[in-house]
Amino acid sequence: MPIYEYVCSDCDYKFELLRPLSQADEAADCPQCHKKAKRILSSFASFSKGEGGQTNPLGGSSCTSCGTTSCDSCNLF
Ligand SMILES: [Zn+2]
Repeated sequence: MPIYEYVCSDCDYKFELLRPLSQADEAADCPQCHKKAKRILSSFASFSKGEGGQTNPLGGSSCTSCGTTSCDSCNLF
């Protein structure tokens, strides 16, 4: 199960919670005041955001045909 971060809207207490993905966006109970805590969207992405589903280590837009980043050779784009 993935870990999610939550912050209490009442006392600002931050905590982490192991939850199934299906419950990730549901409000969690604050361990301190037992009010509703909202999920923090972490800046680091441990999960794919569903954009293409592939990670590109170069960070560029490599051509799927020729495999280079410049794509001058195949001119597909
Ligand atoms: Zn709280």
